[in-house]
Amino acid sequence: MIPQVTLRPGVSMPQLGYGVFQIAAEETAPCVEAALEAGYRSIDTAAIYGNEAEVGKAVQAVQGRGIDRGELFITTKLWNADQGYDATLAAFDASLAALGTDYVDLYLIHWPVPAHDRYVATWRAMERLHADGRVRAIGVSNFHISHLQRLMDETQVVPAVNQIELHPNLAQRGLREFHAEHGIVTEAWSPLAQGGLLGDPVVTDLAQQHGKTPAQVVLRWHIQLGNVVIPKSVTRQRIVENIDVFDFALSAEELARIDALDSGARIGPDPDTFNRL
Ligand code: NDP
Repeated sequence: MIPQVTLRPGVSMPQLGYGVFQIAAEETAPCVEAALEAGYRSIDTAAIYGNEAEVGKAVQAVQGRGIDRGELFITTKLWNADQGYDATLAAFDASLAALGTDYVDLYLIHWPVPAHDRYVATWRAMERLHADGRVRAIGVSNFHISHLQRLMDETQVVPAVNQIELHPNLAQRGLREFHAEHGIVTEAWSPLAQGGLLGDPVVTDLAQQHGKTPAQVVLRWHIQLGNVVIPKSVTRQRIVENIDVFDFALSAEELARIDALDSGARIGPDPDTFNRL
């Protein structure tokens, strides 16, 4: 039901997954189980979210109900304080132990943290994890073109994915074009702008015309752009709603109306100046 995109090493990734940022640890396992039962097969977590172990618990629980690990696509991310070659290898071991699995489908550098200038050495450790078969694909998150260019100039493997803040208010056209030129898949975080644009008149008008919800219209815009999306919700009805976006299509004119909402407004920090460890 969910389309797949092919990442650079020939790995398939569901175009729509479930994000678990800001889900409290004690809530995470039941939410992830609800998502997997609703049909999601891709889960996006990170060491800094503090809920990798609970994602792992949900994965274990559904295996008992016939959803095999091999059908799932698990992403986690290396936190800023763990950048550097040796620290990355150690942090990966800790994430894997927390998740209770023996490989990760996609491992991302969470932020470039340019003031600390360790992302090239970090990437070399990611290349090693990939070569050792412990990670099926490696990528980055929150990288600008300059950071991507430097990795491509100084290392061997081009990132399979760049996971960036992306929604109709921050459409990231230039970065998406750069990704397309270099075979990097664009993955959108905060695809719903954390709910902030669901009352926009363009979005609500299109929702009414298609008999869908504003969230479904925004997710459909992403899907038709070719983005991977990972909406988060702790609300059962929304978990189901957010995956139900494959039975309608927006016209070119409707897509353009949403494109016109791009104001360049970020919710999160600018990766060039975000240096928190
Ligand atoms: P989203 O854009 O996914 O929005 C989540 C918010 O929207 C929640 O408040 C949720 O409420 C609400 N919501 C979800 N579905 C609906 C719906 N159908 N109708 C109305 N409201 C809805 O924001 P996130 O910031 O959570 O981003 C998604 C994922 O991206 C994260 O979980 C994480 O995996 C990833 N991410 C990565 C970052 C990075 O630096 N790499 C940074 C930020 C996020 P409720 O839960 O109450 O239902």
